[in-house]
Amino acid sequence: KLARFPCVRTLEGFDFEAQPSIDPGQIRDLATGRWVGHGQALLLLGPPGVGKTHLAVALGREAVDRGYTVLFTSAAALMAGLTKAHADGRLEEKLLQLSKPKLLIIDELGYLPLEPAAAHLFFQLVSRRYERASMLITSNRPVGEWGQVFGDAVAATAILDRLLHHSHVITIRGDSYRLRDKRRSGLLQ
Ligand code: ADP
Ligand code: MG
Repeated sequence: KLARFPCVRTLEGFDFEAQPSIDPGQIRDLATGRWVGHGQALLLLGPPGVGKTHLAVALGREAVDRGYTVLFTSAAALMAGLTKAHADGRLEEKLLQLSKPKLLIIDELGYLPLEPAAAHLFFQLVSRRYERASMLITSNRPVGEWGQVFGDAVAATAILDRLLHHSHVITIRGDSYRLRDKRRSGLLQ
C-alpha cells in the first residue's frame, strides 16, 4: 500500500473557473486513468500556487481508485533516496523498488538545485520506467530550463526525450491561488 499523498485534494475541490489556463475536459480525461494504463507521462508545469500539487494528488487518487499502484514523493526525497542508495551500493535494489508502482508522482522538481550525480541517477530511473509505467512530474520550471535544473544539459535532454515521447504536458499560467484573498483585499497588486 503505497501512495503517501501529502494532503487531501480532489478534482471536485478544484475550481476550474479560477484557473482558465486548464482545460477541464483534459483533466476529466486524465481522471479516467487511461494514460496510466498506457504507461504515459504527465507533466504539470507552472509557477507556485497555481494548483500543480492539488491536481497531482487528485489525479493520483483517481488512479488509486482505478486499481493502479501509486507512489507519491517529493523530488527532494526521491533524489536523496537515490543518492543514498547509490552511496550504499543498493542502487539496483532502489531502482527496482521505484519501478514497481504503476504511477510514480514526483512533486516539486526544480525548486532545489540537484546534486550533479542526481541527474544520472534520475535518468536511470526514467529509463527503467520508460514505456512500462507512468510518471507524473510537477515543476515550477519549463522544460527548456531542465538543463539548469539537472545541472547537466546532456542528461536533461536524455531524460526529456523519454518523458516527452508518450506524454501529456499541461502548462498552468496565472497567479498563485494561495495569494488570491490577499490580492482581493488590495494587499498585493
Ligand atoms: P502548486 O503546487 O502549483 O504550488 P498547490 O496545488 O499547492 O500549488 O495550490 C496551492 C493551494 O491552493 C492548495 O491548497 C490548493 O488546494 C489550492 N488551489 C490552487 N488552485 C486551486 C483551484 N483552481 N481551485 C481550488 N484550490 C486551488
Ligand atoms: Mg506544489
